[in-house]
Amino acid sequence: MHKLPPLPYDYSDLSPYIDEETMRLHHDKHHQAYIDKLNGALEKYPDWAEKAVADLLGDLEAVPAEIKMAVRNHGGGHFNHSFFWEIMRPGRTDNVPEGELLFKLNEVFGDLLSFKEKFTTAALGQFGSGWVWLVQNGQGELAISTTANQDSPLELGQKPIIGCDVWEHAYYLKYQNRRAEYVDNFFAVINWSVADANFKHAKLG
Ligand code: MN
Repeated sequence: MHKLPPLPYDYSDLSPYIDEETMRLHHDKHHQAYIDKLNGALEKYPDWAEKAVADLLGDLEAVPAEIKMAVRNHGGGHFNHSFFWEIMRPGRTDNVPEGELLFKLNEVFGDLLSFKEKFTTAALGQFGSGWVWLVQNGQGELAISTTANQDSPLELGQKPIIGCDVWEHAYYLKYQNRRAEYVDNFFAVINWSVADANFKHAKLG
């Protein structure tokens, strides 16, 4: 049985960048719903129910046909949201990358501002519901990527380093249609320490 992981901070801790009501709904209702539906789909497949969700998504072709779409959508929803909670921390105005990742972002994107612009452009260009990511791609390079719905970078052979939920449920209560403002404020709550750890982990392979 998959279980809802607790937030690594309080519901109100990301405020004012992400408000408490959004965090409560997003974590307790939306994320829980993906887990309930994933568990429901796996009920008839006890061997598959024991596997880690990242392993299911990393080899979706192997998943039984009857539950493949449910695992893709709800397993993806479970993985993406679990990742999302961990990649955020209480906000700060001087929130900047650290460690090896800072060096690499400058090398690949020129500077932090250019990275932020490219990430935001990708987020705004994602039509409808989905996610924008900083990943290590299949060629081992740092890249910005988007996925539709609850598709996960793992399905594309990519390793996520940063991920931002751009479904309307992630921002609509506070930002309404202002996705750009939401993404701008997401940069204040990125947990760069976790991002750097994700980067190091991705490099190790
Ligand atoms: Mn979401």
